[in-house]
Amino acid sequence: MSDRDKQGVIHEVNGPILRIRIPGICNGEQVKIGKLGLYGEVIALKGETAVVQCYESTEGVCPGEPVVSLGKPLSVELGPGLLGSIFDGVQRPLDKVLLASGDHIGRGIQLPALDRDRHWHFTPEPEIQASARLSPGQLIGRVQESAIIQHRILVPPHWAGELLELAPEGDYRLDDPIGRLKLDDGRTRKLMLYQHWPVRTPRPYLRRDHGLMPLVTGQRILDTFFPLLKGGKGAIPGPFGAGKTVLQQQIARWADADIVIYVGCGERGNELVDVLKTFPQLQDPYSGHKLMERTLLVANTSNMPVVAREASIYVGITMAEYYRDQGYDVVMLADSTSRWAEALREVSGRLDQMPVEEGYPAYLASRLAAFYERAGRVETRGCGKGSVTLIGAVSPPGGDFSEPVTAHTKEIIQTFWALSKELADARHYPAIDWVGSFSEHVSTAAQWWHKQISPDWERRRQQALGLLARDAELSRIVNLVGPEALSSAQRWELVGASLIKEGVLQQSALDPVDTFASPEKQFLLLDMVLMIYDRGVELIELGISVQELTDLPLMAKARRAKQTFSSEQTGQIRALMEEFKHAFSQIRLEYAKFKEHAQ
Ligand code: ADP
Ligand code: MG
Repeated sequence: MSDRDKQGVIHEVNGPILRIRIPGICNGEQVKIGKLGLYGEVIALKGETAVVQCYESTEGVCPGEPVVSLGKPLSVELGPGLLGSIFDGVQRPLDKVLLASGDHIGRGIQLPALDRDRHWHFTPEPEIQASARLSPGQLIGRVQESAIIQHRILVPPHWAGELLELAPEGDYRLDDPIGRLKLDDGRTRKLMLYQHWPVRTPRPYLRRDHGLMPLVTGQRILDTFFPLLKGGKGAIPGPFGAGKTVLQQQIARWADADIVIYVGCGERGNELVDVLKTFPQLQDPYSGHKLMERTLLVANTSNMPVVAREASIYVGITMAEYYRDQGYDVVMLADSTSRWAEALREVSGRLDQMPVEEGYPAYLASRLAAFYERAGRVETRGCGKGSVTLIGAVSPPGGDFSEPVTAHTKEIIQTFWALSKELADARHYPAIDWVGSFSEHVSTAAQWWHKQISPDWERRRQQALGLLARDAELSRIVNLVGPEALSSAQRWELVGASLIKEGVLQQSALDPVDTFASPEKQFLLLDMVLMIYDRGVELIELGISVQELTDLPLMAKARRAKQTFSSEQTGQIRALMEEFKHAFSQIRLEYAKFKEHAQ
């Protein structure tokens, strides 16, 4: 009996969960359900009864209808044509699905993820000749996938053997074989431009490696204060409206990654429509081409079936690992992992599993950990080093960070960018709270900053965080006993903190200049405001009033420098620093003269 012949009947339908009698089926296998041919997957077995979750609405599906096994677990197609695509949660091309079924997704539609008609120009690796021994993951040729990304064609992960033939350079469709491989067990396999991989299994690599390089996002509070390394795991928790989606889009747009995979998971449809409309318009700041030349989107909104939402993040991460295996640095963004966890909860509830915390199943933490574990920088089998950086938004109900999804995520990730409602309400964007956020990557990132930008980076970062902490303490005093209770030095500390907040931390995603800041610009802005603070401290110690310093017209220039000077105009920021130094020495001179006169 071949896998495809495994047949059964529906016994019970409970929302997206079905019980099916189907002899011989295995856990994880995909099935086609009922007369409509809906897609689903076995998630538990009890004797001959399989529990199946269905990626599509089961409305109108009745007990007694037939079920057929597809003989394989939920898998994705991996090959040229992924970039620039928009997929649904089970990797169906969303544009084509919508075309085929009108404005909402029809049921039982099966379309290949990758275009079968398109020709790709394949160039075999010159050193690979017939009769060569090929190993899993080895590079056998290349295809120019988009204007900027060269797709590396790899031997599928579990294949090894003798190459019988390899096609010459030329144009091929995905279903045209480009070679034949005699596996070690004697079977012969066709090599194609694409391969399949089951989404719930991490793709293999040679070994894990340390992250070394920060992911430069151009967002100052991220790069300068809470850096994330390429291959790292980050989370963006925050209440509704605090700016999670805007921040993820900023990262997608500006991060110095080769490939960006954006998974819209369970958020409202209109938000996603917005993403789907804006992304194709965006220019890639690094190449000058369209951003979609190195981006792909997975979209599963809150009105789409909940089980496909559960699958969508695995579909996304598998494609991310595939580009990692080609030696690329990939960033995957998931918005939001809370909606994914809700899908887990819904399925678990229908299985009558014992809920543990707030209705979530006991395996919530381990599933989350296993998902984030797929991030990392690795030595690939055939293409040197590659990385997947994973950044998940978390949307805790009511902004309560102690709820299970946020709390477990916090244990797993290395960088935590906590968005605060108070900051968002005060229109301090990005509303990342510097007290609640953390990064475990600071010392590694410091090595990069010290070498590339300035040996003062870590000292300045610490100084700024110290001043922000003092600001919080002093603000409490002011609230209790009024501003008169503060000394001049303390009032100057408040000024210093406000310079950091306005001049460095606040960064408008909408301002054409401020939306991105190069590392050099980031450091110069920070260095400038702290230089102002330090020199001010000296003057105030001499007896000069805080007012005299805050009245300097130059102060407004310091607060606005982020918008005035682009990343290419760092020379002008340096010039502004010189102006400050000059103004401060003038004040010092005049004050000395005044003192002399008074004596
Ligand atoms: P969430 O996804 O957390 O619900 P959004 O990312 O949709 O929140 O942000 C809500 C709004 O906050 C945005 O529409 C925008 O007006 C504002 N906003 C958030 N971050 C920024 C930013 N960095 N710059 C400017 N505006 C921002
Ligand atoms: Mg959002």
